[in-house]
Amino acid sequence: MLTAIVGINWGDEGKGRMVDLLSEKYDIICRYQGGNNAGHTVINEKGRFVLNLLPSGILRETTVNIMGNGMVVDIEHLTNEMKALTDKGISITPDNLKISEKAIVCLPYHKLQDIMEEDRLKDKKFGSTRRGIAPVYADKYMKKAVRMEDLFHMDELREKMEEILKWKNITVKGYGHDEVALDEMMNWLEEYGAAVRPFITDVSGYLEKAVESGRDIMFEAQLGALRDIDFGIYPYTSSSQTLAAYAPIGSGIPGAKLDETVGIMKAYSSCVGEGPFTVEMFGEEADALRTAGGEYGAATGRPRRVGAFDVPASRYGVKVQGADIIALTKLDVLSYMDRIPVCVAYEIDGEVTTEFPTGERLNRAKPVIEYMEGIGDVSKCRTFDEFPEAAKKYVRFIENAVGCRIKYVSVGAERDEYVVLD
Ligand code: GDP
Ligand code: MG
Repeated sequence: MLTAIVGINWGDEGKGRMVDLLSEKYDIICRYQGGNNAGHTVINEKGRFVLNLLPSGILRETTVNIMGNGMVVDIEHLTNEMKALTDKGISITPDNLKISEKAIVCLPYHKLQDIMEEDRLKDKKFGSTRRGIAPVYADKYMKKAVRMEDLFHMDELREKMEEILKWKNITVKGYGHDEVALDEMMNWLEEYGAAVRPFITDVSGYLEKAVESGRDIMFEAQLGALRDIDFGIYPYTSSSQTLAAYAPIGSGIPGAKLDETVGIMKAYSSCVGEGPFTVEMFGEEADALRTAGGEYGAATGRPRRVGAFDVPASRYGVKVQGADIIALTKLDVLSYMDRIPVCVAYEIDGEVTTEFPTGERLNRAKPVIEYMEGIGDVSKCRTFDEFPEAAKKYVRFIENAVGCRIKYVSVGAERDEYVVLD
């Protein structure tokens, strides 16, 4: 069974905890895109863990975790993330963590470039997480990036880096910054290369055999559908493909076909950073929802923008992900509301539409809000039958509106705080 778990919205839907919950049945968990620009939060009996780079399966003893070729990996960050986990008693070995030899190394100058550019843009900034993700993906496509496999050939890598820096320093100096020194980069690559080298391997070969022998593989996305570089709210997107269709490619088995895609969708909306966010709430209304949902970035601590559930955006997310079933998360967060706003359509230049637009039309969209009855307290419910009638109605309304079956509803952050729908 090959399953992708992906975000339907802007990210932070609670993918980490759903992967943690559903990963039990899977032998292998793959990350297939992105870097440490987003964070998953997982709470289980061992503690509270924020994972930026490592697949969530790392918290389960028998699961093999893959960091695929589609990823960009800051190996200093990875080394620290691994240490934080091993300090809490999590075991990480070459048997349960495998990094693709084709994955790209995110270097300190990518972070520098990201920061210099965001500072140059000032109030026009894109809301980058300043972790070098866009610059390193750009370098990948410029074919001037370092791959994990290069870390096995440090002499050749030094020659390669010397050439790359001649090119990179044109940009660095252009921002008025001191040149990046070759020795400094090589020292960094030596130090953190040594830490991650044992885990670098032929991931494609490993996964091909795993598929052949019928092992169960889960692909774990980071960020949601609306952050996909092609199909998201460009340019306020991530720099990678977040969609399920990319999962086999970014993991290392481009010929494999998914059996199932699980879409993680939040019972309301949140959005980190800049860009159009049609359903955005402001003032006290926003503060209340942000506080109830704990909507602060896992990677950065930034307060997230929040809003009502967005039907046009979520229906679009379901479509581009090709979701077969939905896990609706954080329903409990809405319990404090007397009546719940839902954005059922957009009004664009006087016209009402349920289609999700792009570009300038999206910038001009205004939400058409309808109110649903307050759902009451669902946090103690462990079956759908136990839900108050209004909560059942809210779930069924959303299911119908986005056109995809809701199979799971989570009602709290802990592992067992969810219900399964028949
Ligand atoms: P991800 O990036 O999609 O993995 O999501 P994040 O980890 O960034 O954000 C999800 C946050 O919501 C985390 O702090 C979770 O612990 C929390 N969370 C997940 N599911 C639920 C839920 O059903 N109810 C509540 N109250 N919190 C949840
Ligand atoms: Mg997150």
